[in-house]
Amino acid sequence: MVKRAEVRSEDKWAIEEMYASTDELMKDYQYLVDHIQDLSKYKGKVLESSSNLLETLETDNQLSRLLDKVVIYAMLNFDTDSTNGESVQLKNKMIDLQTKLSVEYSYLRPELLRGSWETIENYMEELPQLKKYKRSLSLVYRIKDHTLSEKEEKIISKLSNILNTGKDSSYALRNSDLTFGKVTDEKGKEIELTNTNYAKLIKSRDRELRKTVFKQLHNRYYEMRNTLASLYNSEVEKHVKLAELYHFDSARDMALFKNEIDIKIYDQLLEGIHETLPILYDYYKLKKEVLGLSELHLYDVYIDLIKLKEEKKYTFDEAKELVIDALGALGSEYQELVKKAFEEGWIDKYPNTGKRPGAYSWGCYDSKPYILTNFEGTYHDVSTLAHEIGHSIHSYLSIQNNSYQDYAYKIFVAEVASTTNELLFNDYMLKHSADKNEKLMILNQQMELFKATIYRQAMFAEAEKLFYEKVENGDSLTADTLESIYYDLVKLYFGSDVIIDEEIKSEWSKIPHFYMNFYVYQYATGLSAASKIATAILENKDNAKENYLKFLTLGGTLPAIEELKIAGVDMTKKETIMDALDYFQSLIKQFRILYNERN
Ligand SMILES: [Zn+2]
Repeated sequence: MVKRAEVRSEDKWAIEEMYASTDELMKDYQYLVDHIQDLSKYKGKVLESSSNLLETLETDNQLSRLLDKVVIYAMLNFDTDSTNGESVQLKNKMIDLQTKLSVEYSYLRPELLRGSWETIENYMEELPQLKKYKRSLSLVYRIKDHTLSEKEEKIISKLSNILNTGKDSSYALRNSDLTFGKVTDEKGKEIELTNTNYAKLIKSRDRELRKTVFKQLHNRYYEMRNTLASLYNSEVEKHVKLAELYHFDSARDMALFKNEIDIKIYDQLLEGIHETLPILYDYYKLKKEVLGLSELHLYDVYIDLIKLKEEKKYTFDEAKELVIDALGALGSEYQELVKKAFEEGWIDKYPNTGKRPGAYSWGCYDSKPYILTNFEGTYHDVSTLAHEIGHSIHSYLSIQNNSYQDYAYKIFVAEVASTTNELLFNDYMLKHSADKNEKLMILNQQMELFKATIYRQAMFAEAEKLFYEKVENGDSLTADTLESIYYDLVKLYFGSDVIIDEEIKSEWSKIPHFYMNFYVYQYATGLSAASKIATAILENKDNAKENYLKFLTLGGTLPAIEELKIAGVDMTKKETIMDALDYFQSLIKQFRILYNERN
């Protein structure tokens, strides 16, 4: 692999536009160090006058914005080459500074919350410049009814590390202490089974191998069932007790409240999913047919339905042309931005020694929305580009159209722009491919995206809901309880065409997302929203493009649900979920027709 120093400049992102030299970076660093204390100028007196409040907020804004720039530059730089000692040092230095600033600043939120929203409103009348902070201040004051006394907050924050023991210990057990033994891979080589290579091995064409890794991995988890259950129980108990202390109806309410999401959205997702489970059953039936198996086991469901004899490879320039063309579906204004992404140094293209694997889109208010990829020319690499460009253009338009304090969009909408692009890209490739096998391969990818992002994540979301309800009803989560709830859900989600191998009941204990309480449902809602948007655009619905572009400019100025309404998506209706799964059904239909034609 090439070293970073050997990478041509046209293949690198242009982060030198943030800082041309380390000296320049260090000037901003020094400025921040010298001005840290400015943040506390009115500590204890912030709400004494409208001008104190304004000055504090302006200082915070100015310093936070600059801090973002130095930290993100250092992180981006580090991600391109973690073997570079100077980059490592710079990154650590900036992170230290970030910690210092956040400590210095931690007084502000509690201090604001000791005042009242009325005071803020009066101050906004008195000093209209304060109005630009209305949205960000309102987000702070929303939690006023869910804030404890200073003394109580202090107790909780002192205990916060201990409260994470369940999560931390489970992580250590799953990722370090647990081993899964050896298996013989397809080439006859003996290898150590791990959580990481499991994902690849379970897709092997060698059925015995799939079966072995499936059983071996889950059996190992089963041996630790009581410990894993106890650790998870303590995590759930933590959120349940905190929700009680902070006056929420449930832990789920607490988690969703923080993101301005009504609990109804969650319940409707699950309702919509239940009503469309027959589509998923049909998908498994299709898998069984295409794979030609008399019995479809759980260790058979991850395998690709279509294996191309030789995978087609794309050069980066070919990828660029395809992505620009495909995203033309969003109109010429959007397409110009896609070109900009390719031509103005947003993208760091290829792998090199020490570069972080995978792909992401990242930047700050004072930078381009950079994209890191490790492009090697596969179809997946090209569609990843379309995906990341979706994130980046969403960020770009949010920055262009909003002030610093309001530009960041919420997690609930974060995957909408990226998956909309992915769907449009796949649709374009389907329409433009002349090769039946390639078409089938693309359809396979699309179907897997829906299955994995909507149904599977919804199953996890439902499991979480049931686990938490148990604890909220006064029970505790034993291994038996967790296994039986999980096993029943697997049976429900896979249907009668799949053999539900008993080992699956331990699967709950290997899912890291169960430690991100009530997060995963957003994968399902995000793709459902994207599907609605992409479909409307492809069908040329009135104003679909315009509404979507408007949505991309909103940043964090409105609650996520309101923003999506502007894009033409009503997440409060379960039909939105069901429409997305209708589309999934149409993919299954297309696949069947094309597959039968081929034979
Ligand atoms: Zn993404």
